Amino acid sequence: MGEEEKSLNFIEHIVEDDLANGYGDGDLRFRFPPEPNGYLHIGHASSICLNFGLGLRYNAPVNLRFDDTNPAKEEKEYVDAIKKDVAWLGYEWDTECFASDYFQQLYNWAVELVKQGKAYVDSQSSEEMAQQKGTPTEPGTESPFRNRTIEENLELFEGMKNGDFDEGTHVLRAKIDMASSNMLMRDPIMYRILHKPHHRTNTDWCIYPMYDWTHGESDYIEQVSHSLCTLEFLPHRELYNWFLDQLVDSNKLRPKQREFARRNLSHTVVSKRKLLQLVESKVVDGWDDPRMPTISGLRRRGYTPESIRNFADTIGIAKRENIVDVSLLEFHVREHLNKITPRVMAVLNPLKIVITNYEEGKEEWLDAENNPEDENAGNRKVPFSRELYIEQEDFREEANRKFFRLKLGGEVRLKNGYIIKAESCTKDANGNVTEVQCTYDPKSKSGSGTEESLRKVKGTLHWVSVSHAISAEVKLYDRLFTDASPDTHKDKDFMDFVNPDSLRKVTGYLEPSLKEAKIGDRFQFQRLGYFNVDTDSTVEKLVFNRTVTLRDTWAKLEQKS
Ligand code: ATP
Ligand code: MG
Repeated sequence: MGEEEKSLNFIEHIVEDDLANGYGDGDLRFRFPPEPNGYLHIGHASSICLNFGLGLRYNAPVNLRFDDTNPAKEEKEYVDAIKKDVAWLGYEWDTECFASDYFQQLYNWAVELVKQGKAYVDSQSSEEMAQQKGTPTEPGTESPFRNRTIEENLELFEGMKNGDFDEGTHVLRAKIDMASSNMLMRDPIMYRILHKPHHRTNTDWCIYPMYDWTHGESDYIEQVSHSLCTLEFLPHRELYNWFLDQLVDSNKLRPKQREFARRNLSHTVVSKRKLLQLVESKVVDGWDDPRMPTISGLRRRGYTPESIRNFADTIGIAKRENIVDVSLLEFHVREHLNKITPRVMAVLNPLKIVITNYEEGKEEWLDAENNPEDENAGNRKVPFSRELYIEQEDFREEANRKFFRLKLGGEVRLKNGYIIKAESCTKDANGNVTEVQCTYDPKSKSGSGTEESLRKVKGTLHWVSVSHAISAEVKLYDRLFTDASPDTHKDKDFMDFVNPDSLRKVTGYLEPSLKEAKIGDRFQFQRLGYFNVDTDSTVEKLVFNRTVTLRDTWAKLEQKS
């Protein structure tokens, strides 16, 4: 199928080579390793689709591994949110794993390294250690504690574990090479003391392993064959391998780390730390605010898992970092929603029109097609009456020939209904039009088969019947940041580029079929975009989000400017 025809990405080539050079099918195993210190964002979706995509392609298990080694920033709330998001994206993990489950094993291995003279307790301050780091071109200085006896190291390390010392008094370091050209190899820290309860191990531990000492070892414990991470870990690969060299049993599979480029999205930030800042400073209303580039924000906004997977698939993976334009993500959601959403009519900026030759008190329930893209979607009825709402923007007293909407003396078709002609209008003291008086052609009803019903007029407008319409709060969104890459400016903070007009709330008037809409339901409001029912919606008060407009208005604006 399409999947087979697609050319392989460079990670898939690596896997293929390994298979050709002795890896059996059963040897492959992947993992997605989030740190539970925030909610997943659209950048993570790339990593999720990559790892789980490999699992599907090679019929190999994929673990969901929580890299939970920093109790200061991690919480169960994040673990739960991450699980929900991965599942929602449509992926099934083989085993739910936690680095914290390996704390004892890691400790035992660290003790082994101490016994072999490959790790030592350093009792300097972090400032002193930093001063001894050297530079990329100058070697570092060895710590005065580097040559402690094994016995002394064992005793101190055990004391660290038992809570005998304050934070910052000692660390365990690997004894590698203070002159290495790779700064990460200059006796990296393996453990630090943190007297903080952990969301899973509680107060069992007061020393916590560092990322480098944890990650490869967790891969090894789980027998992950390919440990894929983003490019900033490229210099860590040497250390990843050094730690494995000290442990790997030749009967077991040796994991390998490979790197791919981080994905950035324009007009937003994809970093949990920065997203947390938006949440904490209340610029947005929580991690799942529909303006957030988080998976939960996109879900609440009305994005479908398919659209996010298709987006990740289209951009693929790369060896170099770049910024993907958010309009590509919007393209994918539009494309999917076009296929699946029922069409309905809603008016967001109402102007009343009165059809003067339509009988007062009369109503008709007109046939309306639910989705022209889906022949099984069926029809519904929409009420028509003498007084209707159309959009303010769809009427002008006077306009040139290119204005295909309603103008005095001009005709338009009302979607699913009749052809009307604007005869006159009423204005308030400020000159704003408050009502338009129209006449309709009774023989022009859509679908009635008459000659008049087939008559072509240039414009078709959406509308709702005033007396039948239900009202709802409708939230309209714009980019959260006014700059395409808000976090790349040297002289400015990304928060300086927050768009003050990223959310606008209006009252919308909707056709009555929407009365039964449930949280999460998605629709196309004809001519206005795709919308879904927000999680804030109640039976008393419907609330909708605009997921995306029908066309890319932003691109047009940028072209003009
Ligand atoms: P953040 O800076 O947002 O916290 P992170 O890399 O620290 O990102 P992790 O939870 O450690 O977040 O990431 C889990 C996995 O997702 C890692 O393998 C990481 O490399 C990958 N990942 C994170 N951000 C992106 C991104 N923007 N594009 C692709 N992969 C990403
Ligand atoms: Mg991180």
